[in-house]
Amino acid sequence: MGTRVTVLGGGICGLAAAHRLARSGAEVTLLEGGDQLGGLGTFTPWRDGWVERFYHCVMPTDDDLLALLGEVGLRESVAWRRTSMGMVVGGRHHPFNSALDLLRFTPLRLRDRVRFGAVSLLLRRLGRGRDLDRLRTEDWLRGLYGDRVWDSLLAPMFGSKFGAAFGDVPALYLWQRLGRESNVSVRGYPAGGYRTIIDALRRSIEDAGGVVRTSSPVTRVRGDGSVLVSDEVFEADRVVSTLPLPALRSIADPALAPLLPDVRLAYQGVVNALFFLRRPLSGHYWAPVVRSGTDFDGVIEMSALAGPFHGRHLVYVMKYTDRESALYREDDARVTARWTKQLVGLYPDLTSADVEEVRLFKAPFVEPVYPLGYLEHRPPLEVAGTPLLLATTAHVYPSVTSWNSSVGLANRVVALLDDAVRGPGSHEGGQVEGATDQVLQGGGDPHRG
Ligand SMILES: Cc1cc2nc3c(=O)[nH]c(=O)nc-3n(C[C@H](O)[C@H](O)[C@H](O)COP(=O)(O)OP(=O)(O)OC[C@H]3O[C@@H](n4cnc5c(N)ncnc54)[C@H](O)[C@@H]3O)c2cc1C
Repeated sequence: MGTRVTVLGGGICGLAAAHRLARSGAEVTLLEGGDQLGGLGTFTPWRDGWVERFYHCVMPTDDDLLALLGEVGLRESVAWRRTSMGMVVGGRHHPFNSALDLLRFTPLRLRDRVRFGAVSLLLRRLGRGRDLDRLRTEDWLRGLYGDRVWDSLLAPMFGSKFGAAFGDVPALYLWQRLGRESNVSVRGYPAGGYRTIIDALRRSIEDAGGVVRTSSPVTRVRGDGSVLVSDEVFEADRVVSTLPLPALRSIADPALAPLLPDVRLAYQGVVNALFFLRRPLSGHYWAPVVRSGTDFDGVIEMSALAGPFHGRHLVYVMKYTDRESALYREDDARVTARWTKQLVGLYPDLTSADVEEVRLFKAPFVEPVYPLGYLEHRPPLEVAGTPLLLATTAHVYPSVTSWNSSVGLANRVVALLDDAVRGPGSHEGGQVEGATDQVLQGGGDPHRG
């Protein structure tokens, strides 16, 4: 009989872990609370197809994800395209892709444009060998770019991700992200959308004898490896939890709760509207929106990457925000109406008649707001004295949260379980930590926005 493993959460991390475990002979049961698998990569039905609720793309450097896609026969289904970036500042649109674009970028004074370009080119090198994990992003970037660039561009642009706390986030996080992104970059999108990946993983788990249950919210996790869904009990030798740590804490048995890692991270959530437009917008895959009178901070024109969907152009606009914020709590219909007006106001050629439909989606736990020195405080994957393993976004730092980093994390957890079941050395590539080295060599993955 194989080791019995219960996997909590059916986002990409739980699915990847369950797939690998089931394929290596474990008896896997995956429990997902929602009625769909995919977590932050779930879908909304539209016409006779499905569309991601939140924009997603694959990067060419997503090695762990691409390897997983290879295992389920989908690697070749990713279509790659060169995408471009725009920038909207004070309501004016600027392309932001080349040295010439930068030279013409009037929101900055000429000398700041030159400085911006030079520092950006060197940023990767400037960070090498420095303890960026303990350096505030603001302290680092203000010093390099100067006050004006920081105040007028960088703080609003990247601050949209972490809110007021952005300046306090370790510079390492941003360095990781910028180092692997370029303004004109190749991005990928799987044929048939992300749902094809989810479906293929589910099939793989079930074909290997695993059980996948949706609409099964876990209500209790105990320190002995048993898990409750209402009054149904699931016993296992090991439990892998991919739930955000605050969610796990809220359902942990009183005996288990004190054993969980004592990291109390704040999390950014997101409010994200999906527009079905009758016409394209700008052709830029993404455009940060700065000081333009909108509540949202960025526009993602997904059709620039994935092509139109049933003749409609898919555009996402988003604001990362705390789940307790007024915006997050505001009525969906009001946000939708206001953001539609704002989007139409932002693009001179767009009229409300071009907007066929808008759907609003929110997620409470998208990204932990990492504190300084987090490399040392990242929680371990194993909860000592229990059969519980953790694989959450709190563990992927300094990598940017993404499908790739979640798959990489799932691999690490599976390697640990392999060691426990079959002894150390039973898997390949077992060395899983050492993030600092990885960072200094440019590891990690960029992603969003
Ligand atoms: C707006 C936006 C844009 C993004 N863009 C990209 C992109 O372009 N490329 C990219 O790679 N990544 C992108 N990401 C990030 C990516 O979606 C996440 O990093 C990734 O999906 C995290 O996967 P996960 O499995 O770790 O967590 P999640 O997807 O959050 O999965 C956790 C699962 O646990 C379930 N759960 C919670 N509580 C319970 C419970 N009590 N019982 C059972 N189940 C429970 C949830 O329903 C969920 O399905 C984006 C995210 C957002 C929000």
